[in-house]
Amino acid sequence: MAQRDPYEVLGVSRSASADEIKSAYRRLARKYHPDVNQGDPTSEEKFKEVSGAYEVLSDADKRARFDQFGTTEGMPQDPFFGGGSGGIGDLFDMFFGASGGGQQRRRTLAQDGDDLRLDLTISLLDVINGLSKEVDVNRASECSDCSGSGVEGGGQPAQCAGCNGSGVVSAVRNTFLGQVRTQTACPKCNGYGFVITNPCRKCSGQGVRPSTDKVLINIPQGVETGSTIHMPGHGSDGVRGGRPGDLYVVLHVSEDGPFIRRGQHVLTGVDITVSQAILGDEMSIDGIDKELTLEVPSGAQPGQQVILKGEGLPPIHGGRRGDLVVELNVTIPKKVSEAEAKLIREFAELRGEKVPDGKSSLFGGLFGKKK
Ligand SMILES: [Zn+2]
Ligand SMILES: [Zn+2]
Repeated sequence: MAQRDPYEVLGVSRSASADEIKSAYRRLARKYHPDVNQGDPTSEEKFKEVSGAYEVLSDADKRARFDQFGTTEGMPQDPFFGGGSGGIGDLFDMFFGASGGGQQRRRTLAQDGDDLRLDLTISLLDVINGLSKEVDVNRASECSDCSGSGVEGGGQPAQCAGCNGSGVVSAVRNTFLGQVRTQTACPKCNGYGFVITNPCRKCSGQGVRPSTDKVLINIPQGVETGSTIHMPGHGSDGVRGGRPGDLYVVLHVSEDGPFIRRGQHVLTGVDITVSQAILGDEMSIDGIDKELTLEVPSGAQPGQQVILKGEGLPPIHGGRRGDLVVELNVTIPKKVSEAEAKLIREFAELRGEKVPDGKSSLFGGLFGKKK
């Protein structure tokens, strides 16, 4: 069934007040009521039409939708004008697009809280052990003075008289297409459809106030830089029934110090002496989470790697750890005494190598300056 203009059906003007609409409806409903027009199908149709028109114009929401789109057809939750699709609303969207769309739908009283991001730096040790940590989160939390309503002493904001709560006001413009109805956000309420005449003094009518709250964050084992922990509902509080936002904790794993992460494996370097490299040795080194024993093989070469299995990092949520890869850095003495130099020459001689003369001008000689 095509929808007739409900203003026309009730014979009222577009600016008619709620009372005018009500009395017009009563008058017409009495006139066309099936009980007084028995057997007259036209009256029954008229009665239905009048009831439908009243249903639209007596409901601020539906009236606003009709004013805005010229129809309520195809809109959900419409018991009378249900069914059908397209219509003037779609055309309106097509002509005015998204740019005009910002003001098309009434904003609701409820506003969801913001999602928040928190950056947190943790250590490699935390990656091994996991971490439960209480952190301070700066968020907007519900104002206790007004219970989040923004109204002094609590209670609900008043419906805006400028737009009857619809959030929009309409105007008719003359264009080459004919008369075009346009909607703009109600200037009295900025499109919210309600006004707070006595804002809460504590939150200036916002319903929320800035606060710093402690939040317990459970970080599983094996996380990486960029791993994000999603905590639903721990963002800023919503107002007037809006849902709270979520908190996203973005993790940064600190790689300061001697360890370089490669996934589950970790690289590190250890200085050893020439004699350790030649003869081999057993030595203690600092692992990520404990002291470890490093077996330096005899004949170790500079840059050679020794792998300590299971001393790296666990996979996400724990499990078998990766390896610690230890690179051997053979340190050559920069200066030796005359006695040491003598032994090294002997060493070279024993190995059948050319015995260095120690007079290379390029390197400034083998012997250190005497003190
Ligand atoms: Zn408040
Ligand atoms: Zn308004």
